Amino acid sequence: MSIFAIRNREYALERIPSLLKNYPESKEILDFYRHVLDFQLNVYKDLKDGDWRKNIKKLYELLELCSQYGSQRLKEKTQEFLEKSQEELQRAVGEFLKEKSAPYEERFFFISFLNPFMSKGAEKAEIDKTGWLKNKCPFCGFKAVVSYLSDTEEVQGGRFLVCQVCNSEWLYNRAECVRCSNNEDSELHYFYDEDKKAVQIQACDRCGTYIKVVDMRIDGLAVPLLEDIASLSLDLWASQQGYVKFEKNVFGL
Ligand SMILES: [Zn+2]
Ligand SMILES: [Zn+2]
Repeated sequence: MSIFAIRNREYALERIPSLLKNYPESKEILDFYRHVLDFQLNVYKDLKDGDWRKNIKKLYELLELCSQYGSQRLKEKTQEFLEKSQEELQRAVGEFLKEKSAPYEERFFFISFLNPFMSKGAEKAEIDKTGWLKNKCPFCGFKAVVSYLSDTEEVQGGRFLVCQVCNSEWLYNRAECVRCSNNEDSELHYFYDEDKKAVQIQACDRCGTYIKVVDMRIDGLAVPLLEDIASLSLDLWASQQGYVKFEKNVFGL
């Protein structure tokens, strides 16, 4: 059991109140997601390994939770999934891990369910991420959903990409588009709300893709995966400008 990883999950839950204050427009999503984070923490605490198949019953718990607190869209889909057998659910989750995509509601269920197991698996695997520098997760192969800047012992203002499926983080070039590797300063643009400078959009004019960059040097308390979810107004703005997100978060934004 990793005390450090449990603490990180508790910390993410404790971050919600300040996000609610900064992003009142995201209240509905955050109030619901708090239940999901709580579910994930409880699943994670009891895990010895990352074997999600033998714990497929937990997916029913998550579905019940979505039918109680989720949006209307999620609620409707939960009924269909609650009727599936364990074997059917295992097959659906396995298929998602292979294809790495699914319709919004299913993707929400699968990523939320898999997260504690996959992050446990990633910790156990202890993958050497040195020199990885790719836009996909070195453990599970999903695309990075968000990035952040931080000073570490090795790098000043290093940029890290984050996987929402297994919580892995790895180093990436700071001034480089995650999709097309463009590193021309004149074609990479940064956008942010004047009163929330820690969360920025890095948009590439060459391929029209964007990803958020959370500057932990401005806000050291930030939790990148959650900041991305809370700052949905930036996503709406970016899509109005014609930019497409590199990888959508669990809420499809
Ligand atoms: Zn991953
Ligand atoms: Zn690009």
